[in-house]
Amino acid sequence: MKRSPLKRTPFVRKHTRIKNASTKRRKRNAEVKPFRQAFTLEVGCCELCGQGGLLDVHEISGGWARSKALDKRYAILALCRGCHTVVEQEPALWSVPRQIALLRARRPHDFDLVAINKLLTRQVDLESVEFAAELIRV
Ligand SMILES: [Zn+2]
Repeated sequence: MKRSPLKRTPFVRKHTRIKNASTKRRKRNAEVKPFRQAFTLEVGCCELCGQGGLLDVHEISGGWARSKALDKRYAILALCRGCHTVVEQEPALWSVPRQIALLRARRPHDFDLVAINKLLTRQVDLESVEFAAELIRV
């Protein structure tokens, strides 16, 4: 039986690409950028390991409230890239109460459990922060 060769459509890249961030998100990112740069400069070193250099801003409350958390001192940590990766990728090790306990240990004046609970889906009580604080030796 004679077979006809497969017809292949040549790959053509389309003009439009998926945007990295929505317009709304880009606008919000630009809005909070000065605050976040000043924040990392002020903190100066990783709040987890103490290393200086370039720091990321980590949002303790991710998910639906991440955008609101971007410029809230009670909801963010300044972390080096290495620690940021660990905190993001190991939620079992770095539970939300533990992250809040770290914030409280490093910046007690910024600790605000009532405020951050408004940005969290699962509420965190003081007892779980106290318990997690015992895991952090500061
Ligand atoms: Zn670090």
